[in-house]
Amino acid sequence: MDKDNGHVELYNECIECINNFSDISVFLAYNVNVDAIKFFKDGQEVQELIDQFDEKEIIDMIEKYPRKITHPVEFIARLIHSMRAGKPSEVPILENKSLNDWFNGLKYDEERMGGQVGIISNLLSILNLKRVIAYTPILSKKQAEMFVNRENLLYPLVIDGNLVLKKHIESYREDDPLKINRIFEYIEGIEFNLGDEKIITPQANRFIVASRPDALRFEIKEDLKKKLPEIGEIIDCAILSGYQGIKETYSDGKTDEYYFEKAEEDIKLLKQNNKNIKIHLEFASIQSKSLRKKIADRILPNVNCLGMDDTEIANLVHIMGHDKLSEDIIKNSRIEDVIEASKILLEEYDNLELVQTHTMYYIMCLCRKDNPLNDEELKKTLELATVLASTKAKLGNILKIEDLREGVRIPHNKYGDSLNSIVENLKNNDEYQDYKITMVPSRLVKNPKSTVGLGDTISAGAFIGYVSLLKNKNNKNI
Ligand code: AMP
Repeated sequence: MDKDNGHVELYNECIECINNFSDISVFLAYNVNVDAIKFFKDGQEVQELIDQFDEKEIIDMIEKYPRKITHPVEFIARLIHSMRAGKPSEVPILENKSLNDWFNGLKYDEERMGGQVGIISNLLSILNLKRVIAYTPILSKKQAEMFVNRENLLYPLVIDGNLVLKKHIESYREDDPLKINRIFEYIEGIEFNLGDEKIITPQANRFIVASRPDALRFEIKEDLKKKLPEIGEIIDCAILSGYQGIKETYSDGKTDEYYFEKAEEDIKLLKQNNKNIKIHLEFASIQSKSLRKKIADRILPNVNCLGMDDTEIANLVHIMGHDKLSEDIIKNSRIEDVIEASKILLEEYDNLELVQTHTMYYIMCLCRKDNPLNDEELKKTLELATVLASTKAKLGNILKIEDLREGVRIPHNKYGDSLNSIVENLKNNDEYQDYKITMVPSRLVKNPKSTVGLGDTISAGAFIGYVSLLKNKNNKNI
């Protein structure tokens, strides 16, 4: 097949998939924020940051691996840790005035929509879903302005006791706080020195300093909560994310336990009048082990689909007692290990029907043999996901469906053939006779405009693809 025809064919397949989306309505909760982004294009600025502190102190701090940022040196240590590995990372900040002032003193290049709900809802609106209902407990004017202004993207409100869906820009509250995450993106090949060590970033990625304002509570307010069964009746699926933002304690004495109980209730209410809703849980980097365990114990047993990256699946199986497997995934991201971890999750959680993991070199999903979608259909959902990611990496953002013409031009990465043969072999393995394994190699953009939200984009595309193909199949069977 000639190359250009290959692009056209792939583009047409993506469009065919997206055309089905116009029949799908989705509810999203809970996390939206503003991302302030700083792009490191060379080592100079990193070196200047290092020079503000004692190098020995930074080196010791990297060893300590702080899981919260309370001082700039902890930030620099975790930033360097991320840059040295070329791995994405997110660490919460314990905000106080002087630390905030220090961070505000850095120069940022851009502000844009952030948070999984923010990123995914704008994307799905552009992909022409029938209706995208995107909820966040806080909605300030600045935040509301970052939602794309389209008829299918709406915020749920209760007015005179009735559920009303309005555009975000018509729904903001003047006094709501604003959450700003600071994101440090770096390209491949940035060089700087720390002590005797010369560090060169092995690939482009980013480090996130996540803000956790006390006033931001992870919940659906009481009046709207009562309307969740009604929302459930008008949607096909939901994407839930942001649990990593729950704090262990709040200033009024409330604890994470309280908010997890509420979050569990939310899912049950959504499903109350519509048992067919498919619910996807999107994981993000979570530093606290106890928080991770709570998500595994309280949220995971209530969802149908799960999406995450290799670090998170490693962390999940770690809290389930599979230390060696977890370590192996963290070190090597081998597809054999990720598939084994996915199988452990499907065995442990009967409610789960699909586990999707994305890594730098591949996107894979595992489901049981009796899943209604066949291998080819499952592959289509993952292929669309890779094209969405390559488009976003290339352009920085997806503003219209035709932008995908750029993404389809990026070929599968160079490990594609060997990954395919590993998966084909595993399919013949006795251990996997009760499962369907699907894998698509990633389409890696050499110098991505940005890496923020690529994972969310992959998961959202794959999940909505999955739900829309299932719906198609059910409609045909009626
Ligand atoms: P996450 O770690 O959840 O943000 O996911 C990032 C995913 O985006 C990776 O697993 C890759 O599949 C994909 N990705 C990362 N960098 C690039 C790039 N430069 N071009 C295309 N896709 C990328």
